[in-house]
Amino acid sequence: MQLVRAVGCSAWSGVAIILSIGATLAAPNTTISALDKSGALDSSDQCAAQQSCIDNYLWSVYARTPKIDTIKVPQVRKVKIKRKGKVRIVTKTFTTYVTEDFTWKDPAAAQHAGMSIIDYVIGGMDRGFRLMLYHALRAMDAAGLEPGITSAFRDDYRQTLAAGQKARADNSYHGGSRHGGYGHGLAVDLVSVKGATRSERWASSVELWKWIDAHGKDFGIGRPYLDRDAPHVGPIDGKEYMSHRGGANTEQAVLNKKRHRLAHYVGRGSAWHKRHHFALHKGPHLGKRA
Ligand SMILES: [Zn+2]
Repeated sequence: MQLVRAVGCSAWSGVAIILSIGATLAAPNTTISALDKSGALDSSDQCAAQQSCIDNYLWSVYARTPKIDTIKVPQVRKVKIKRKGKVRIVTKTFTTYVTEDFTWKDPAAAQHAGMSIIDYVIGGMDRGFRLMLYHALRAMDAAGLEPGITSAFRDDYRQTLAAGQKARADNSYHGGSRHGGYGHGLAVDLVSVKGATRSERWASSVELWKWIDAHGKDFGIGRPYLDRDAPHVGPIDGKEYMSHRGGANTEQAVLNKKRHRLAHYVGRGSAWHKRHHFALHKGPHLGKRA
């Protein structure tokens, strides 16, 4: 997810479903302490031994998080201009920023997959990754950061619902089929739900991301794209993180450099070269979009 991203008019085809499906979601603002009091959660250590307890906790963090994004909508309009004393009509593109509620997307994708929303969103993630997330999110909660999950598992179908999505639908580490699909999701989008307004929550989210950069590795998680896709978090021993943030001497980085040098001889125009050129010369790739 990015705060601002480009989107075509096709994004609006789903607006009608927002109201119907969005209403079936669990009430936001479910607090962990409320769950604890209701007995749904065991104490932290006991919980870590129970998959359903971990999943319920992750679900509560997901359910309390607003699924709202700011998107860029380009509009083409015809305008009159004067050129050399003559009035001409030209087309110009104007950009407007709109708030998009993407609450409906996960329920729609779960329905498409024939699953309950919790089985889809949480159960689609790799088990080991869920355990890492459990410990990390508990620590963030304890630090008063009030973490929230805007997106977890996403299959190829869900990926096609992503507004402005240009990348291949099967290529996402959130659970694209190229990386194993259901049960193998290795990415989650994290924000903070602390604050009454979107700008307050944005400021809290910046704090949360700083915390992840400082302490995430203690729990095995990190942000592969840093601020290029700020909420996107994955395991630091995973392929995605290693290839973007693994440092200059990781196996993958050395391999990429070798292939890159070779590509200069074989032909710079290859698809692989185009994909990796920017990464090698200027830094990490732009993040995938929600
Ligand atoms: Zn992501």
